[in-house]
Amino acid sequence: MAKRDYYEVLGVSREAAQDEIKTAYRKQAFKFHPDRNQDDPDAESRFKEAAEAYEVLGNAEKRQTYDRFGHQGVNGNGFSGFSSSEDIFGAFSDIFGEVFGFSAAGRGGSNRPRPGSDLRYNLDVTFRQAAKGAEVDIRIPVEQTCDTCNGSGSTPGTRPQACSQCGGSGTMQQSQGFFRISVTCPQCRGAGSIITDPCGECMGRGTVIRDKDLKVRIPAGVDNNSRLRLRGEGEAGMFGGPPGDLYVVIRVEPDSVFERQGQNLIISREISFVEAALGHRLEVPTLDEPVNLDIPKGSQSGEVFRLRGLGLPHPGSSHQGDLLVEIRVKTPTHLNKRQEELLREFSEIEAKKLTTKAKDFFKKAKGKVMGE
Ligand SMILES: [Zn+2]
Ligand SMILES: [Zn+2]
Repeated sequence: MAKRDYYEVLGVSREAAQDEIKTAYRKQAFKFHPDRNQDDPDAESRFKEAAEAYEVLGNAEKRQTYDRFGHQGVNGNGFSGFSSSEDIFGAFSDIFGEVFGFSAAGRGGSNRPRPGSDLRYNLDVTFRQAAKGAEVDIRIPVEQTCDTCNGSGSTPGTRPQACSQCGGSGTMQQSQGFFRISVTCPQCRGAGSIITDPCGECMGRGTVIRDKDLKVRIPAGVDNNSRLRLRGEGEAGMFGGPPGDLYVVIRVEPDSVFERQGQNLIISREISFVEAALGHRLEVPTLDEPVNLDIPKGSQSGEVFRLRGLGLPHPGSSHQGDLLVEIRVKTPTHLNKRQEELLREFSEIEAKKLTTKAKDFFKKAKGKVMGE
């Protein structure tokens, strides 16, 4: 089947602004959400189609490529495709976070197995921890299956009663003009049954909030806003559903010494104009021991020296970034009399050098013209 145009999928014009695209995508996602369309087998593919379109159009760079080369341009070009709707929730959690709760879980429905919610945890790490890698202990509140009722929500020994309003199906039929649509039963909120004797431990929810201690391994070289996925460490599933995942979002504190640019580190150092003119050995801090950097004679302010391999490692590879040292030449301000004399003398010599040079130049030029 031919792929539909992404703009057509989202129902926006080719000139649409980024937030217009985002809004359009949210509308589509709502409309074709698998939970709202359990009887419509097409809905899931429409839902995925919209997510695919948004993955491309929602990203300025990919959108540009798509505009120029069409589907051909974005296929297999950093574009992964989604295998399930859970993937979609994972990829666009920032959008769904506002709408559905973070993940596929916690939605209405019958007592069929439901996966647990994914969780997001913001972890602040120091610049050094990010550079060198670290193991960090975190404590997160997690919704876990209630031990007392084993997740049923009813006091042990009692059973929920079938809902009288929907007859246990969890949904009700409603007529709207020509259409009959099915809506979630308001009495049991889609569960199909009503807990008449709620469990005292979890108040009928079937789950309780508990603190969970986890170790998070920060890979060396990790960048700000990197996301680590801890499979199965999210909230417990309901009615036998699998647990969600925990996404740890790394926030790296800035450093007082180094600035970061990708895997390169940048520092800036001042040297005097004499050091710049005569050459100078500069001690430079690195992530480990300081190293010596020889600034050659006649270096200019703003020149950048590259120390290979002294930057940050790429997580999961042996490649290492560089340390870039930018020098700034400082002009002296408080000169004593003797220094000033020397500089004037220096200036005179410099002026003489220039005149000699100019004379030489004219001599040569003249020579050429005269054919000497
Ligand atoms: Zn309970
Ligand atoms: Zn009901």
